[in-house]
Amino acid sequence: DTALVWFRRDLRADDHAALYHALKRHRRVYCAFVLDTDILEALPRADRRVAFILDALRVLDADLARLSDGAGLLVRHGQALQEIPALVAALGAGALYFNHDDEPQALERDAAVGDALLARGVAVQSFKDHVIFERSEILTGSQQPYGVFTPYKNNWLKTVNAFYLSAYPVHRYAGHLATDAARIPVQIPDQTPPRMSANAATQGRAHRIPTLADIGFEPVKVNPMLMDGSDGAQRLFKEFLTRIDRYDETRDFPAVKGPSYLSVHLRFGTLSIRQLAREAHARAMQGNAGAQTWLSELVWRDFYHQVMHHHPHVVTSAYRPEYDRIQWASGPDADEMFQAWCEGRTGYPIVDAAMTQLNETGYMHNRLRMVTASFLIKDLGIDWRRGERYFAQQLLDYDLAANNGGWQWAASSGCDAQPYFRIFNPVSQSEKFDADGKFIKRYLPALEKLPPKLIHAPWTARPVELQACGVTLGENYPAPIIRHEVARMATLDRYSVVKDRK
Ligand code: FAD
Repeated sequence: DTALVWFRRDLRADDHAALYHALKRHRRVYCAFVLDTDILEALPRADRRVAFILDALRVLDADLARLSDGAGLLVRHGQALQEIPALVAALGAGALYFNHDDEPQALERDAAVGDALLARGVAVQSFKDHVIFERSEILTGSQQPYGVFTPYKNNWLKTVNAFYLSAYPVHRYAGHLATDAARIPVQIPDQTPPRMSANAATQGRAHRIPTLADIGFEPVKVNPMLMDGSDGAQRLFKEFLTRIDRYDETRDFPAVKGPSYLSVHLRFGTLSIRQLAREAHARAMQGNAGAQTWLSELVWRDFYHQVMHHHPHVVTSAYRPEYDRIQWASGPDADEMFQAWCEGRTGYPIVDAAMTQLNETGYMHNRLRMVTASFLIKDLGIDWRRGERYFAQQLLDYDLAANNGGWQWAASSGCDAQPYFRIFNPVSQSEKFDADGKFIKRYLPALEKLPPKLIHAPWTARPVELQACGVTLGENYPAPIIRHEVARMATLDRYSVVKDRK
C-alpha cells in the first residue's frame, strides 16, 4: 500500500491536492522531485529559477520532516521519464500521484510517464491544484470556452464557493508519510552514478538537497525581496495583506510597493492559490475595492490557463490567425534594435529602467511589462514571439500561459487583447505612472539629476540643460533609437493586413 507523490510546480507541504489524496488513501507515502535534465539542459548555467527551486526544495524537505519524523523529499537528477518509473519500482509503489500541469510539453511528459506506469499495473492519479478553475470548468451557456475576460470573470465569481477555496488538510493524514524517506540516499544505489558531488550524496539532512554546483549550475543571487520557499512566501503574503486595501490605487505605479510580488510563489506553488483566493475573496465580499481588484488578477491567471488548454496553438501562433499575416521587422537593423531593447539601451528611460529591473532582479512590474512589450512590438515592429522568449529566459515568475497571454495582449493578437490601433505612448505612460521619475532613477543612475520635466524624454531638452545634469546623449545615456510618432504610423500600416483581409 505504497504511493509516490511527484512534486513539480507545487513545492509546498501544506494544502496540496495530490499529497492530500495520496495520504488519505495509502499507508506509506513517499514524496519526490526530479531535477529534470530535459528542462535544465536548455537553461543558461546561471539561472535564478534553478536557485529558487533548490531553496524551495530545502524548505519542502524540512516541512515534510516536521509533518512526520523521518519523512523527507527524495530528489533525483535525470529525465523524469526515466527517474519516476525507476523510483516507483525501487520503492515498490502501487500508485503515482501528481498535480496537473497543463503546459503542452508537461502534458506530453506526464502522458508518457503515465503510460509507462500503467503498462506495469501502477495506478496513476492526477489532480487540479494550480488554479481555482481549470480546463472546462468555466464555460459559456453554450458550453464553449470564453473568449472575453469579463463574462468569464463574472461566471468565475458566480461559481466560486467554499468548496473550491478550502485547503486540503494534509496534516490530518501526516502519519502516512513514509518515515524512512530521510534515510534513502539522494540517488538510489542501483542507478548509474549521478553527476552529484560526494557532498550531496551523503545522507545527512542538510545535504539531502543538491546544490547548484552539484547539478552543474553557477551560483546566482535570487532577489531577497521575493523570499525563499513556502515559509518566505507566507511572510510575503502576510505583509501584502496589510496593504491589499490600497492595491487598486497603487498597483500601477512601479516606484510604489503596490503589487504583492507573489508571482514566483504562484509559479512554483510555494503558496497555494486557494489560500490567496480565499483571503482575497473574503475581503472582496465585504466590499474591499483593493481585494476585488487583486482577486480579478488571480482570475486573469485562471483565464490564461484555460486559454492555453483550449487553444494550445497560442504557444507558437497568434490566437487570432489573421495576426500571423503581419510582416515583422527583420534583418540586422531589427536585430540591433532587439538587442538594444533587451539590454535597456533604447533611449526611452521608462523602457530602459524596466528592462534593467528585469535583467538585474528577474522581476518586472506589470505596468512596465505592458509598456516594454508594446514598445518592442509597436515601436520597434518586432515579432512578439522574440520578446516573449526573452521574458521567458529572464523572468523568475515565467509562466507560459500568463507570459503568452500578456505578450499576445500587447500584440493585439490574443484572446481579449487590446485593439491593434491602441498604441502606448512610452513618454505619456512614463509621465503618468512614474511622474517624478523615481523608478527610472532607481535603475538608471546616470539620469539621477534630471528633473521630472526632462526625465521622461531627455532628447527634448537642450544639450546644455542635459549637461548641467551630467547627461550627454550618446555618451552616458543613449539617444532614442526610434521616434515614437514615426513608429506609430509604421505600426498602423503594418497592422493594416489584419483588417484588410478579415
Ligand atoms: P500582483 O499584481 O500582486 O498580482 C497577483 C497575481 O495575479 C500575480 O502574482 C499573478 O499570478 C496574477 N496575475 C496578475 N496579473 C496577471 C495577468 N495579467 N495575467 C495572468 N496572471 C496575472 N505573470 C506571470 O506570472 N508570469 C509571466 O511570465 C508573466 N508574463 C507577463 C508578460 C507580459 C508581457 C505581461 C503584460 C504580463 C505578464 N504577467 C506574467 C502578468 C503580470 O505582469 C504578473 O503576474 C505580475 O506583474 C506579477 O507581479 P505580482 O505577483 O506582484 O502581481
